[in-house]
Amino acid sequence: MPNPTQPTASHFINGTYVEDTAGAEIPVIYPATGEQIGVVHEATPAIIEQAITSAKAAQKAWAAMSGTERGRILRRAADMIRECNHDLSVLETYDTGKPMSETLYVDATSGADALEYFGGLAGSLTGEHIQLGEDWVYTRREALGLCVGIGAWNYPTQIACWKGAPALACGNAMIFKPSETTPLCALKIAEILHEAGLPAGLYNVIQGTGAVGAPLVTDPRVDKVSLTGSVPTGRKVYAAAAEGIKHVTMELGGKSPLIIFDDASLEDAVGGAILANFYSSGQVCSNGTRVFVQKGIKEAFLKRLHERLQTVVMGDPLDEATNFGPMVSERQMQIVQGFIEKGKAEGARLVCGGERIGTEGFFLEPTVFADVTDGMTIATDEIFGPVMSVLDFETEDEAIARANATEFGLSAGVFTTDLARGHRVIAQMEAGSCFINSYNDAPVEAPFGGAKNSGVGRENSKAAIEHYSQMKSVYVRMGAVDAPF
Ligand code: NAD
Repeated sequence: MPNPTQPTASHFINGTYVEDTAGAEIPVIYPATGEQIGVVHEATPAIIEQAITSAKAAQKAWAAMSGTERGRILRRAADMIRECNHDLSVLETYDTGKPMSETLYVDATSGADALEYFGGLAGSLTGEHIQLGEDWVYTRREALGLCVGIGAWNYPTQIACWKGAPALACGNAMIFKPSETTPLCALKIAEILHEAGLPAGLYNVIQGTGAVGAPLVTDPRVDKVSLTGSVPTGRKVYAAAAEGIKHVTMELGGKSPLIIFDDASLEDAVGGAILANFYSSGQVCSNGTRVFVQKGIKEAFLKRLHERLQTVVMGDPLDEATNFGPMVSERQMQIVQGFIEKGKAEGARLVCGGERIGTEGFFLEPTVFADVTDGMTIATDEIFGPVMSVLDFETEDEAIARANATEFGLSAGVFTTDLARGHRVIAQMEAGSCFINSYNDAPVEAPFGGAKNSGVGRENSKAAIEHYSQMKSVYVRMGAVDAPF
């Protein structure tokens, strides 16, 4: 299926599309049909070298520009992304299978938000002056140098921008390696940044599996690695980066709790649980997949949830009426099916869903299990698909303790009309990105990231600046030097 918005080659390096057919072929599969819609080539060592060399050559002059000049280019790119939002959304839908009813509003637009926000901040990045009697210290906020971004497949455009925007605002160069499952979108972001005036070499995109990510992480010319991926990959990449004492941001997996108290608004709690489990067909890292429901509201919650799930519109993601798309790949669908079978085998009650729909594409029904207990596999492991586990609880203290009993700490949510309780419970959640009477909002102004094994560092907000820049302090002596001999 020819798509006019598709990138024209596998890699974008030094301001232009580059191909090297010596690299292994990576097929691009449209998840809604299972059809191959394109192919990219994995980066060869020569491509990796080109990307690093051009980024290194461009970075110092970029860092020497004023923040306002850098920011102007990023803000221009944000405007251009908004102007071609429709085409970029179609591409995101081809890459991921997510319905246009999502991609039109969430993907390229949130990427544009990041470029606009960090473009706006770039001119205000400063150090400080510290007076010490006559002497004084000043600090300079400096770029790290060359940053590597490695993406997951669930939000390819957004991840490319969430990493690229703060990196570039701070004066760094970036090499971005998208997930091999969704290689297309980041190339368009690189193309747009270049058209907006970004000097060549500063935002390069190269394709490949972990076999391309790994040498980027260990290359001594790379100063920082920002990964969005699973905890097992995070462990490997963090360890490899530690060898070179590199800066890292790790945005990893989760198994987040959503606690619904008896006094919650039923309709809002059901809506929150739907957003926390079924948006992007459940392929969202911060999803609240352990839904703790207080006993008094449990049956009403399950009944209303079941009713609302009957209105899901599953089908062609390019049809804007569709609001539930396929899994990103056959492999991901099979992984999720395996978890559903485990849920049944371990004694959870299947309330609805659980089946594959059709034989074309990778569609799975939104699935709800009730009577889930803490030790069941579906309650302990990240599934990354449309599978909600409903667990019962009686007291606030019990819910807090059980919600925190996990290696993960990405997100947590609470639904209650008792605001004091809402704040009290969230304060005790061991998680980085939390919600009260809401779920999965991720505005660029708010820090985003995980606690515990879900990661280190924060994306978005002013906090991201700390992770893409370093401070130099300069002591200035005004008088004579008093040496002991
Ligand atoms: P993954 O861990 O399989 O892969 C992530 C990326 O790492 C891919 O680009 C992959 O090619 C690369 N990679 C793999 N091995 C590598 C290595 N040794 N060195 C360098 N790079 C390597 O994850 P995925 O299946 O693409 O994405 C799903 C996971 O991502 C889930 O666990 C999800 O929770 C997580 N995720 C987290 C966030 C967040 O912000 N916290 C956001 C989205 C997804």
